[in-house]
Amino acid sequence: MNNCVFCKIAQKEINAYIISESENFLSFLDIHPHAPGHTLVIPKFHFQNFKELSEELGIEFIKIVKETINLISQALKTNDFTLGINEGPLAGQAVLHLHLHILPRFKNDKGGSIHSVVFNQPQQSLEEIYEKIKNASES
Ligand code: 5GP
Ligand code: ZN
Repeated sequence: MNNCVFCKIAQKEINAYIISESENFLSFLDIHPHAPGHTLVIPKFHFQNFKELSEELGIEFIKIVKETINLISQALKTNDFTLGINEGPLAGQAVLHLHLHILPRFKNDKGGSIHSVVFNQPQQSLEEIYEKIKNASES
């Protein structure tokens, strides 16, 4: 896509510190790191969301995520990570090209768990919400 910064990185029009590369994916250091080794994994072609990722590409995606984590783990001496996708603007997605954040975690790094991202307590019961989801999957 014309004005997409991640397409430009994938096409090597913009430099990035590339950690790992496969046929259809690339991982590179985030330009504004929230942790040492903060890395993004992207597809080399443009689509916005995780839900658009095909099952065929899913295996290659998981492979490069694991490879990237292994490299960072060895280099920065940590086995702990937070992995996350800001899926859509309401979730904080600023760059509308799929990317997974890999955030290495360290002792006393002052970060929280995934639970600290949002605390929007549901007004409906678990049962009501469960029924909605079940009905959606059957229709
Ligand atoms: P989002 O909020 O969309 O999940 O995160 C986008 C991420 O992309 C941000 O963490 C931001 O620092 C990173 N980013 C934006 N532009 C560039 C760039 O040109 N190069 C690199 N390496 N990272 C970028
Ligand atoms: Zn793009």
